[in-house]
Amino acid sequence: ERLRKQFSDILGSKVPEDSYSVDPTLNKAISLWSGNITLLEIDAIVNAANKSLRGGGGVDGAIHSAAGPSLKAECATLGGCEEGNSKITAGYRLPAKHVIHTVGPQGEKPEKLESCYRTCLQVLTAKKLRSVAFPCISTGIYGYPQEAAAHVALKTVRNFLEKNPGLIDRVIFCLFLKEDVKIYENLMQVYFPIE
Ligand code: ADP
Repeated sequence: ERLRKQFSDILGSKVPEDSYSVDPTLNKAISLWSGNITLLEIDAIVNAANKSLRGGGGVDGAIHSAAGPSLKAECATLGGCEEGNSKITAGYRLPAKHVIHTVGPQGEKPEKLESCYRTCLQVLTAKKLRSVAFPCISTGIYGYPQEAAAHVALKTVRNFLEKNPGLIDRVIFCLFLKEDVKIYENLMQVYFPIE
């Protein structure tokens, strides 16, 4: 309740109902980073792909250019991917070892977006991988409002880490736009409070 009051100024009506406990172990696993996701040397980066998995614009285009043509070739063997689901490939020329391709919703569909974050983490941990970076799924070409999407991203990652302790060392939110940096910095205080 104290936190709700404290942050209602920043967040307006968007303070979530449930308040999140201070948990230094969870906090240690979360990073905000601003830049191009294709530069990250990590177990897996997430691609905001489309159902065909044949490549596209935005972060999808950047990942395919950086990874090289072998990524398209592997993607072509996967038979596409449903909205809200995730499939893993190798990283090829990327510094990241793997790419997890997830298909975000077009427009504001919170259950689908939540499913993207959750299934990415499921695929990651099923492969015994321990670090991952997410772009702001669906908030570009697919038009999901940025702040609403950030709530879903942070909430879903927190819930997964709480339910699956010890499996993941690091989750990076890769923020390409200044606006997302602001949004995530504010919302971190709600979903990963430090005191
Ligand atoms: P979607 O179709 O899911 O909306 P987009 O690629 O259009 O996917 O946008 C998703 C997010 O990825 C946006 O915040 C966009 O600014 C960001 N983005 C674009 N290029 C990159 C990149 N190279 N690294 C990280 N994020 C990126």
